[in-house]
Amino acid sequence: MTKIKVDPNKCIGCNTCCLIDPDTFELDTTSYKAIVKQQPAEINDKTKSAVDSCPVTAISIVDEP
Ligand code: SF4
Repeated sequence: MTKIKVDPNKCIGCNTCCLIDPDTFELDTTSYKAIVKQQPAEINDKTKSAVDSCPVTAISIVDEP
């Protein structure tokens, strides 16, 4: 199964991914790091764009069994 993951050690809380794909990402108001709100049913263009737009490459698309 394909999943989106945010590395909290890399995330700088810039909010870009949340603005581009608010269905998938939200900013945790305690840690100010992005978290995955809901795994997308499929990796669509908006999700891909959010992943590509992260300035610190904190978001990855991983294949898990
Ligand atoms: S775009 Fe990257 S650095 Fe910015 S909030 Fe999202 S995961 Fe964090």
